[in-house]
This record gives sequence, structure tokens and C-alpha cells, in this order.
Amino acid sequence: MGEEDRVKKVVHITDLSQLDTALGFFNLQSFVGNEVLFKLHMGEIGNKYYPKPSLVRPVVDHLKSMGMSPFFYDTTVAYPGLRHTKRGYENVAKMHGYTKLGCNVIIDDTGVGVTVEGRTYEVGTTLHASSHLVAFSHVKGHTATGMGGAIKNLGMGGVTKETKRWMHNGSKPIYNEKNCTYCGVCADVCPFDAITVNKKKWKVSKRKCFGCGVCVDNCKQQALTNKDKNLQYLLACSAKACVHQKDVLYINDVNRISRSCDCDPIAGPLVCPDLGFLVADDMVAIDKASLDLVNNAKPDVFQKVNNVDPEKQIKYGEEIGLGSASYTLIEP
Ligand code: SF4
Ligand code: SF4
Repeated sequence: MGEEDRVKKVVHITDLSQLDTALGFFNLQSFVGNEVLFKLHMGEIGNKYYPKPSLVRPVVDHLKSMGMSPFFYDTTVAYPGLRHTKRGYENVAKMHGYTKLGCNVIIDDTGVGVTVEGRTYEVGTTLHASSHLVAFSHVKGHTATGMGGAIKNLGMGGVTKETKRWMHNGSKPIYNEKNCTYCGVCADVCPFDAITVNKKKWKVSKRKCFGCGVCVDNCKQQALTNKDKNLQYLLACSAKACVHQKDVLYINDVNRISRSCDCDPIAGPLVCPDLGFLVADDMVAIDKASLDLVNNAKPDVFQKVNNVDPEKQIKYGEEIGLGSASYTLIEP
């Protein structure tokens, strides 16, 4: 790839009335006349910040006016709750108003294995079968990965709950007593209060540990390692499995930027002012541009509120060939 090909276009608009202008920077010819899977998070019960139907409507209407047939898509989640089952998530989509926008809603609970970098990820059956995809991703903080953007929307949101589970499981800590100084940092940063450190005793609760890997990231003594791999690495690989052989357009919604993600009923507070929308055809470039915008407005805010460096998913994404972190920001 030449240097010019490596530098991706990322278009920054302040509101969706400029969407037509932003889309004009990309060749979407192959999308026209096709069914287009519109991947988004349709909201956990109680969460206030997920993209609402009123926000998404002008986007899908615009895609329809261009001759595309979009349908809303997501997968069931690993944790208990309504979105854990296909029927339950379909009810959530209805309750939240996504069935009133003239687009079908498809929730997948099964998947097809795609191998990336030696591990097999079960990509949602419908996503796997789709040739064209628009990933609409809400950018916000995340307790396990620092930030959730396009890589998170697909890497976790595009796969089955079994794959979600083993990815988290692979990030759980393995403890090496020899190196531990009992400083207590891991216990302080664990978002799920799963670790206790008491006078030369380190303990993790298997019941409470969610496999976010934050403790491993924060132990400076190499006393903790991931059972398999860093969650942000697995996320980047999983995202690559999800977009394998597809034409993809990415829209990042960099507004309502909360500390935690749309799966969290208590995701607040907002930690950064609204920054508009980004449009790109490269997953790594759009997340890098999103993170740069956030960092310019509120330096290192995701790292500060979640104790995780969110840039890792971007670095890993570039390493495995998911996309390019080099971009030109176009502000039409
Ligand atoms: S952060 Fe590392 S060194 Fe400190 S208590 Fe935890 S495991 Fe031990
Ligand atoms: S992996 Fe996450 S939840 Fe589990 S002990 Fe470490 S910080 Fe806590």
C-alpha cells in the first residue's frame, strides 16, 4: 500500500443535515440497489445515551433515497437481561421505537466461524451473509476498553454471545505471586470490585470478575497477565472477522459522550462536550479521528475515567491490517 492509500479520508460534520455532503466523499455505487445491514446498538433498558430512532431516522431515510434498503441489526448479549435473548432484544427494539422507521429489525443469536490471527470468532449469521454494511457507532467511554467506537460496535456487537463470553474470559487475570508487591492498584481500578488485597494475600472473585482486563493493564509489576490476550487485541481481530469481504461505510456519532457504554444503565456522567459526526470507509481511521477529537476537547479523558488506554484497539487494529490510523480530517 502506498503512503497516499494509507492516509484515509475522515469527514467531520457538525450535524446530520450535512450527511449528503459527507457521503459525497466516498464511492457508494456498490451499495445502491442492495440490502444494507445497518449495525447499531439499540439501547440497554435505562441507558440514556444510545442513538435514538429520531437521530437515526434521517440517516436511514437518506440511504433509502439513494436506492439502498437498510435494515437494523444487532446481536444478543452475554450478560443477563432482556437483550440476552433474540425475542427479548426484539422487544427492546420495539419498546425503543426502532420498528417505526420503515426498516426491518434483525437480531442474531447464532453465528458463523471466521478465523483471524489464529482464533475463530462467530460472526452473527446475518452479518456474515451480508455484502454491504453501514456501521453507526456511538462514541463513548468504556469500562473494559477505554472507548467504544466502530471497533467495539463490530468487534463485540457483531459476534455471538458465546464469542463475547470467551473474549472476556481470555482477558481475565492470571496471577504470579512472585512479582506481586501487594500495592493494591489492581483492586482500586477493578470496575467490578472483584479483587481484594490484604496483607500479603491477593484474591479474585470468579463470580464478580467480568474479564475486562483492566487489572492486568494497571499492574506495573508484571504480576498479572491475561489468560489469553488483551481484550482490545481480541476486539480488533473480531472486528476484522465481522467485515471480512464486505463493503462498509462507517458513521461515528461523537455526541452524548458518557463515561461508560450503551450497555450500562448508569453510563453517566457525560465526560466531554458534543463533537458532531464522522464519516469514513476505514474502521481504524474513524476511531482514531474520534479519539483525537475527544482528546483535543478533553485530554486523555477516557483513560482518566476508565483506567484503560483506549488507543490500544487502534494500534492493534493497524497491526493486524484492519485499517489505517493515518487520516486526513475533512471539514466541508
Ligand atoms: S497491582 Fe500487581 S503488584 Fe499490585 S497488588 Fe495487584 S497484582 Fe500485586
Ligand atoms: S479482569 Fe476486570 S473484572 Fe476481572 S479482576 Fe481484573 S479488573 Fe476486575
